[in-house]
Amino acid sequence: MPTDSWATLLVDGQWRPGATSFEVVDPATLEPVGRAADGTARDALEALDAACAAAGPWRSVTVEERGGYLRRAAAAIRDRVDALAELLTSENGKPLGEARAELLGSARMLEWSAEEARRAGGRVLPASPNGPGLVLKSPVGPALAITPWNFPASMLIRKIGLALAAGAPLIVKPAEQTPLIATELVRILHETGLPAGVLQSITTSRPAEVAGALLADPRLRKVSFTGSTEVGLGLLRNTDTHLRRTSLELGGHSPAIVFADADLPAAAAGVVAAKFFNAGQSCVAVNRLYVHRSVHDDLLDLIEEKVAALRVGHGAAEGTGIGPLIDQAGLDKVERQVADAVAGGAEVRLGGRRWSGQDGLKGAFYEPTVLTGVGDDMLVTREETFGPVLPVYSFDTDDEAVTRANDTQYGLAAYLFGRDLSRLWTAADRLDFGVIGVNDPAPVRPELPFGGMRNSGQEREGGAEGIEAFLETKAIAIKL
Ligand code: NAD
Repeated sequence: MPTDSWATLLVDGQWRPGATSFEVVDPATLEPVGRAADGTARDALEALDAACAAAGPWRSVTVEERGGYLRRAAAAIRDRVDALAELLTSENGKPLGEARAELLGSARMLEWSAEEARRAGGRVLPASPNGPGLVLKSPVGPALAITPWNFPASMLIRKIGLALAAGAPLIVKPAEQTPLIATELVRILHETGLPAGVLQSITTSRPAEVAGALLADPRLRKVSFTGSTEVGLGLLRNTDTHLRRTSLELGGHSPAIVFADADLPAAAAGVVAAKFFNAGQSCVAVNRLYVHRSVHDDLLDLIEEKVAALRVGHGAAEGTGIGPLIDQAGLDKVERQVADAVAGGAEVRLGGRRWSGQDGLKGAFYEPTVLTGVGDDMLVTREETFGPVLPVYSFDTDDEAVTRANDTQYGLAAYLFGRDLSRLWTAADRLDFGVIGVNDPAPVRPELPFGGMRNSGQEREGGAEGIEAFLETKAIAIKL
């Protein structure tokens, strides 16, 4: 894997190094792992020129042919999954097994997008007194994808698959912490023989400058952003002279509710998986665990046993369950939330401090942590944590659990654990979240729409809705 080369800009079918480059570090050791080209506004606008030139020809390519590029890329990802996982872990820090799973999931997403492209048609309406009507779907035009570091493969690949399947040329701007895996994935897609300008990539350490230049240009017809709510809101404000389609996948603050009739060992395993994967740095991570009072202590015992068994360390080391946080700012936020909870009377059942267990690991590690006695107004209950901290609350009635779960500005994912179907159904219906896992700690699937309500975002990725996000709708009225 060419991590020593920083020709990471793909513009108009050519790889280029850029005038300057920036360093990429392993978040576990803080040692350099490579460099990426520091793309500029000029590179981005050249990419937009090429995307505009490619848009017409690409929309005329048959859906079978478009799907073929995506399928070939999926196969190449599967073939090279081990090397790609090592690269992903080296700049993101997550355990190798999680990196592998993310990449295999990404391959599935490409395959699914290739299939769904065939079904992204319009509809024909019965004749009114004047004549029939048609609803046509056409590609939205040149699009920009801005992606985060926490799932640097799947967040990027999901947007690439959906945009290209829909017939829209895409410029990607990966997160500055994880440009190397993004570049390798773009390289895999490029090597399937995609025409110049259909998929382009601008790595940069100056995201506001690069994105700002593209957003100021009305030829860019779509932006699909995954990242923080703060930056997402800024992108909306940026477009003050022209409208464009904007998909936002933003922060989350997921509740999990465990009802009294839940299968407790399965619920404990599910909560621990949904909380601690990627060291809690996930927009769908469990951030608040509501447990029925009658099973609170039993569930807590099971959870503590599992959390105590999670080994902290370098993501590439055998047996690691928790890698580093991405940076010091992430660690500071976790420490601030835990200190605030403890000051307010919460009890630290496990963890609750930095981890500094091994020579050479200088990154921002935090011990997996379980808190009880947490108040509804504490920072850990109000803010997205993005770290390995699980606050546990007890509840008495279903109504109380759902009301408290809904009490957040976010609305991305929620989890329910229980057996009574009518109770699960009622709760799922009342929860104001875009994705709900029912006895399922991993509810993100290519065939399901993924996205949030309220400050967690707008539009959806995945499912038929995901292709729709890269299509325009045109009504044709025919007078006979
Ligand atoms: P971030 O918003 O800082 O960065 C995300 C992306 O935006 C990066 O590519 C970054 O370079 C770019 N960016 C930063 N400032 C920008 C600007 N002014 N203009 C244009 N682009 C800019 O977020 P982060 O800290 O990297 O990621 C963590 C956040 O992402 C969390 O809040 C998490 O919940 C959210 N997230 C959401 C989803 C989802 O699908 N809803 C998935 C993963 C992460």
